[in-house]
Parts: sequence; C-alpha cells; structure tokens
Amino acid sequence: MQYEAIIGLEVHAQLLTESKIFCSCSTQFGAEPNTQVCPICLGMPGVLPVLNKKAVEYTIKTGLALNCTISPYSRFARKNYFYPDLPKGYQISQYELPLCENGYLEITIDGEKKKIRIKRIHLEEDAGKNIHDPSGYSLVDFNRTGVPLMEIVSEPDIRSPKEAALYMKKLRTILRYLGVCDGNLEQGSLRCDANVSVRPLGSQEFGVKTEIKNINSFRFVEKAIEYEIKRQIKLLNNGEKIIQETRLWDSFTGTTQSMRSKEEAHDYRYFPEPDLVPVLISEEWKEKIIKDMPELPDVKMERFTKDYGLPIYDAEILTEEKSLAEWFEEAVKLGGKPKEISNWIMVELLRLLNEDGKDITSCNLKPSQLVELTHLVEKNIINRNTAKEVFEEMYKTGKSAESIVKQKGLTQISDDSIIVEVIKEVMDKNPKEVERFKNGEEKLIGFFVGQVMKLTKGKANPKIVNELVIKILKE
Ligand code: ADP
Ligand code: ZN
Ligand code: MG
Repeated sequence: MQYEAIIGLEVHAQLLTESKIFCSCSTQFGAEPNTQVCPICLGMPGVLPVLNKKAVEYTIKTGLALNCTISPYSRFARKNYFYPDLPKGYQISQYELPLCENGYLEITIDGEKKKIRIKRIHLEEDAGKNIHDPSGYSLVDFNRTGVPLMEIVSEPDIRSPKEAALYMKKLRTILRYLGVCDGNLEQGSLRCDANVSVRPLGSQEFGVKTEIKNINSFRFVEKAIEYEIKRQIKLLNNGEKIIQETRLWDSFTGTTQSMRSKEEAHDYRYFPEPDLVPVLISEEWKEKIIKDMPELPDVKMERFTKDYGLPIYDAEILTEEKSLAEWFEEAVKLGGKPKEISNWIMVELLRLLNEDGKDITSCNLKPSQLVELTHLVEKNIINRNTAKEVFEEMYKTGKSAESIVKQKGLTQISDDSIIVEVIKEVMDKNPKEVERFKNGEEKLIGFFVGQVMKLTKGKANPKIVNELVIKILKE
C-alpha cells in the first residue's frame, strides 16, 4: 500500500517588541531569572493588562506579508490550564476571533511554486520557564511570562518533510525581513509544532493526526516528521490504529515519544477575556502599516534577476537575508559588476562568514572595499588568485585592498620581458619536457605555465604567461 503524508505546522514566533505584551517589563533574552517581572506578568490579584500596540502592529504586518485578511474586529480569550509556569492559571490568547485569517505562503520545491495556505495568525502571551535542577528542586523563571508570541497556523497543505522545512525557512526569512522576530530557533524565538497524519494514496479523507512538539532546528523539522510518517505507516501496515496524541521529538534518539493522548488532553474552557476590550483595526491604520512594509523576499528576488541579470540561484541566496541583499546592492551602486559581486559574495564571503559563525551585519568588510578589489583585478594590477588572498586579508583586518597589495608586494607582473625571462629559466631547467613538447605532447603547456606561476609566486598574469609559453615553445 502506498501512503501520502499530510502535514500542518503551528509556528510560534516571539515578537521583537522591547516590552512585554500586557506590561512594561523588558523582553531582553538572557537576563538573571526573575529580574524582568512585575505584578502584572506575575498574575497578582487585582492587576489589569494593557495591550502593547506594537505587538498588534507586528502581527498585522505579518498577516499582510502572508496574504491574510486582517480582521477589523478581533478579541482576546482566556485559555485555562494549570501549570507552574503559568502564574494566572490561564493564558491570554485568541480563539474564535484572531487578528489574521486565510492567507498563504509560497514555497519553491524542485523548481515548482506551491502555495501553503495559512489558516490563522493570532497573538498571545508566552508562559514562564520551568528549570528542573539536578538537586531535585524545580525552579520557575518568569522573565519569559508575558513575552508576546504570534502563532501562525498553516492548513494541512504540506506533503513532505522537505516541504515542511522549506515552509519554515521561508517563514523565518519573511519574519526577519519584517523585523518582527529574530528567527533564532536555538534561543526559542521561533518554535514549531508539527501535525502529521498519513492516508492511502488517492484517498480524500484525512487520517488521524499526531502533534509533535519540541522541534528546535530546521534539520529536526525534517527528521521528526520523517520519523513520524514511518512510524504511522508501520502501524497501519500491521493493522493497528493511529491514536490522536501529542508526541515529543527526542533529538538524541531521533524518535518521537508519546506525551499525552487525546483523552488526557486539556479542556481549556476558552472564554472571552473580560479585562481587555476588543481590538479594532481601522482601514487607516492598516494602510499606514502597508506603506511601511519593506520589499519582500520574493519580489526582491524577481527584481534581482531582472535588474541585475542574475541567475535565479544567485538571486535566491542573495535575498535570503535582507541585510545581505542590501550589502550586494550597495556594492553594485558603487560600481561593482552584479555577477562579479555576486560570485565574490557566494563563493568567498559567505564561506568566511559561515566559518566564523557570523552574519553580514557583524562583518568588517564594506561593499566599497570589495568593489575596489574587483577594480584592481579588472585593471590587471592583481590576478584572480592573488585577489582571493587579498579578499581574505581584507575580511580579517578591514584594511583596503590597495594597501594590502602594496604592503605584501602582490602587484601582478604583466611585463612581457620579465615573464619571458622566467619562461626561459623554466625551459633551461626542464629540457626533457621541452623535448617531449616538441614531439607533440601539447598538454605539457599546463606544466610550463604552472612552473612559471610558481617561480613568480603566483603574481604573473596567467593570461600573458599562457600566450607567451605557447609562443616561445613553438619557436
Ligand atoms: P486541533 O483542533 O486539533 O488543534 P486544528 O484544526 O486547530 O486542530 O489544526 C491544528 C493544526 O493541525 C493545523 O496546522 C492543521 O493544518 C493541522 N491538521 C489538521 N488536521 C490534520 C491532519 N489530519 N493531518 C495533519 N495535520 C492536520
Ligand atoms: Zn511585567
Ligand atoms: Mg488548534
């Protein structure tokens, strides 16, 4: 029997507001436990929440970027459950009237575009963090309590682990473009729960789904879903039933483990939050937010292929991060040739940044410096191999290309008479090879060019060397 996987993702994104969603406590990551708290986020009796306008604005921005309808009227709701990290005994969330609905996000899989529908985006507060100390005590840190979270729920339109990972990556890129979430999976600012079911290929009905929690990397999104699909298919092939349950991904064993079944599921007893008035979003406010929207990755990518004649492959990589795209455009504005700049970024710059675990925003190298380097190559002052060496030095020290070339004496030798001297020297030292060449072994040209480059410490102009070697050998 052939099966098809059905996947829907629920993604929680921590919003980049400075203060929490219902009080003025800081949202900064990494502070000492319980130093960013107040009576409101600690859920003391008698306190009242005040909604953070920026959090609403960020959610609307996201909704617009994901092609959603923005609800002119929406409401908060209480989701009731008891857990030590939830001081009020309920979480303020949204239920039947979320801020955004019915959108989509487009992914590209094997060169084909595919729309994954977005069911809803709502705003809610985060809970605190339980710390289970090895001493046997459990501790609670309430710094995270009340940090604004946006929950983005997809329709079950995803059909493979790879599509799920592409969806997550694209979503992260968009959130970072909008500046509403830093997208840091390791620190938990972007978290994903995956709903997975399988059905016989060709069947129209959905199978029973399980929900996998605790996925904190792109690799694990793929791995966890892959494992879960296999597990479900195996059960069905054995004539067993899938039970609806929540499962935890365990990255050490590479498996999912049952956490709780549907029978044990919470009854949240949702009801409208009486302490907050409904949220009204005027056309005017929406228009103002639309005006402030940055150019989004898909549009930027199209433009890069059209305006700069870049291959789709280049444009995709360059527009993955807004800061990188801006760095590229700055270099082109300063006179760099688009494809040339793109090659330097993709081959050298991204490799070096990757090795250092850095991104372009914390990089010493300025677009103007790369442009200067490409000019030195164009003017034949240095050759391409030397340029790579200079590039690395510029990246590390922040010095200009010209000063590195001067300091290290790297100027390219384009003077024919010097190169001819060296070629003669190489011929004198290798009479056998000269003989073999004269007897028709033309491929030895590479050998002679190599020897000349070696003797000139890579500084000779390879094009001139090549021409002269052929000319002299054939004399
Ligand atoms: P629940 O009420 O169990 O939370 P929802 O309808 O809210 O279910 O959907 C939660 C998530 O599960 C959504 O992302 C949705 O796309 C996904 N989903 C719903 N049904 C299925 C299914 N049969 N298989 C896989 N995913 C599903
Ligand atoms: Zn507070
Ligand atoms: Mg749900």
